Amino acid sequence: MNRAKKIVIVSHCILNQNCVVKPYAKNGEYFLEFVKSLLTQNIGIIQLPCPEMTLLGLKRWGHVKDQFEYPGFLEASKNMLYPILNMVQDYLKNGYEIKGVYGIAGSPSCGVNKTCRANWEGEASCYENLDDILNRVKLVKEKGIFMEIFEKLLEERNIVLKFYDIDDWSEQID
Ligand code: SF4
Repeated sequence: MNRAKKIVIVSHCILNQNCVVKPYAKNGEYFLEFVKSLLTQNIGIIQLPCPEMTLLGLKRWGHVKDQFEYPGFLEASKNMLYPILNMVQDYLKNGYEIKGVYGIAGSPSCGVNKTCRANWEGEASCYENLDDILNRVKLVKEKGIFMEIFEKLLEERNIVLKFYDIDDWSEQID
């Protein structure tokens, strides 16, 4: 059957590395096995919007989660996610299986099992040097802000989905 009625939801950059903050873009082959395994099983792919590209553009600096925890970012993220939520709700109502949401480990927005935090603000000149800036960054075991909001919005509609980082994918899709 061509319509397998199975779907995964992926962070935007899994299918489009052009949106990633410099210099972190990976060669597309990094995701090839994952994407190929989905397509060969007729599993559909919903691509989330990239919140950072949408709100800050391609010339953005790298950020940490703390910098996105303000009402404007939260509201804009919700507005990006509502159309996805509506799709999820309709697919589930019609008997489709959403196999999971796949994010990017360590991302301040799309991390699932880990994200990055730091007490950063203001101009780089506020800090002693680059090491002073970089040494403040900590990887923590929590979701990035975009995935956190997505999970909460799903909960509000009584929908529970499994979340994975792309690094976890082979356990779940094989
Ligand atoms: S915000 Fe999300 S989709 Fe955009 S580049 Fe970062 S991890 Fe990828």
